Amino acid sequence: MQLDTPLAASNAADLVVPRLLLSTRAWGMIRAYVAAADKSEVSGFAYVQQLDNDPSTFYVGASDDVFVVPQEVTIGSAEVSGNTFALALDKAMLAGRDDDLRIQWHSHPNDSYFSPTDLRNIEAFGAAGMEWFISFVTNRRNEVHARFDVFRPFRIGAEMDVIVYDFVPDDMVTRAQEDVANMVTILTPKKTAWPGAQQRPGLVVTHGK
Ligand SMILES: [Zn+2]
Repeated sequence: MQLDTPLAASNAADLVVPRLLLSTRAWGMIRAYVAAADKSEVSGFAYVQQLDNDPSTFYVGASDDVFVVPQEVTIGSAEVSGNTFALALDKAMLAGRDDDLRIQWHSHPNDSYFSPTDLRNIEAFGAAGMEWFISFVTNRRNEVHARFDVFRPFRIGAEMDVIVYDFVPDDMVTRAQEDVANMVTILTPKKTAWPGAQQRPGLVVTHGK
């Protein structure tokens, strides 16, 4: 997956705000992990894809695209480390999805902003050779913040719009396309006009009163 549209132009007004779409099921999975880790914070990863016709829009489609790996956390923090990323990368390579492994997410006890530690961790992804990466932070009030960071060929970090979106699952799209192709016949419309109520015999049309 390559970024083939520049995210920033020389004129700052032309900056394109990248968007992160989460399906209801992908967002539900993150919330479920955060709720299940009720004695600490938790961190994880997600596979992300780019919309074909809009390279500044990224989406996580399925609950299975969100996952966690073995990790050590504290009551108040769960930061992504080089260790957990290596484990996530192993899993992604086995699934043939290492190119989609572009989101790290973690929970905070209170605010959902990126801490100085988070910002240092984001730089580490660039140092490890990533071209771009998305970071996502949430809290127990389901507040979210997402950052889009490009490391090369130029460095840019931008706050993302996060949108929870109800994707139609692929199997339903396929079934609907097949059924429409097989069962829906398009007729050429005949040129007939509705005769109008007043021309129907025996029907009295009254106005007012
Ligand atoms: Zn954090």
